Amino acid sequence: MEPAIQTGDRRQVLLLVLDGIRPDVMRAAIRDGDAPALGALAGAGEAVWDCASVFPSITPAATAAIATGRPPSGSGIAGHAWYDRREGEMVIYGAKTETVLAGGPIRVFHNHVWRMNRDDLLAPTVFEVLHRQGVEGACVHFPIRRGPYEHPVRMRSVEGYLLGGRLLGRSVEGPREYYLGDLFYSRHTGLNGFMGSGGLHRSIGINDEYAAAVGELLLEEEAEPFTLVYFFQGDQISHREGLAAQRRYVSRLDGYAGRLFAAAGGLDDLLERYAVLVVSDHGHAPLLPRRSHVDLSSGFRGIRTSLGPRASLGPGTDAVAVPNGRAAFLYLRDPELT
Ligand SMILES: [Zn+2]
Repeated sequence: MEPAIQTGDRRQVLLLVLDGIRPDVMRAAIRDGDAPALGALAGAGEAVWDCASVFPSITPAATAAIATGRPPSGSGIAGHAWYDRREGEMVIYGAKTETVLAGGPIRVFHNHVWRMNRDDLLAPTVFEVLHRQGVEGACVHFPIRRGPYEHPVRMRSVEGYLLGGRLLGRSVEGPREYYLGDLFYSRHTGLNGFMGSGGLHRSIGINDEYAAAVGELLLEEEAEPFTLVYFFQGDQISHREGLAAQRRYVSRLDGYAGRLFAAAGGLDDLLERYAVLVVSDHGHAPLLPRRSHVDLSSGFRGIRTSLGPRASLGPGTDAVAVPNGRAAFLYLRDPELT
């Protein structure tokens, strides 16, 4: 059943997704005065500090839950990697948007940008549901963005892939406005290319600074009634540097939120016209030392396990193991095997 839109409140909606930010980290930043914009928002509304993510709490699965309202079993997006029994191959979306898009193998790039939304996502997205009810959307960087409008690839280097590759399509489907760095943009904003945010050292323009700049533009114009702006760099920083770095990054995120609020005429004005939601997709546990990692390659009690990007249930293999952060999927050749 699709959720009904309440007719009593005709405000537009701004949804900010802050990837990987823990509630206690955000709360401490607000308490210490390091997140004044988000603190003011929480003070003007309601803050819920005990939300739980889906399992496994991995970005593709968790963002799919946000965009569809369904757990991984319903969205079809179970993690950043899974094993396709029908095709007999691993499907890897990649865990980190930035690294995938900057230089990931072409198949991972294809899986992340094309396959995940087009082929694997089983449930309608918020953009599709709203469109059917006459409400259009804008999406900045969010990985789950399927919608009724076609967006052509804008980057020449990707167009180059198209000539020789059969994997990448010429366009993707998204909401009426869709932005993903220099790859996809519904209209020229002046924010793209090497003159855009991040200068020469950017990953084809896909970074939080760019998301904030596009978000400002969309809010200044009140471009669409539903606007989703996604900030992913806090997740990567936490993976690499741990929770203290996440805590520092929250101040940066707050600066972006402040800019968005200002672009809409300030928080009070914004809240007159928009319902504003800020959510994270999951948190992070403290980094583990390497010796605490579980070695899946040695198998489980004599089960011959295949592992890695080319893993398959070929001859001599009892199971395929697919790590997803601190969880792993185990696909057994014989379901009776325990
Ligand atoms: Zn995430």
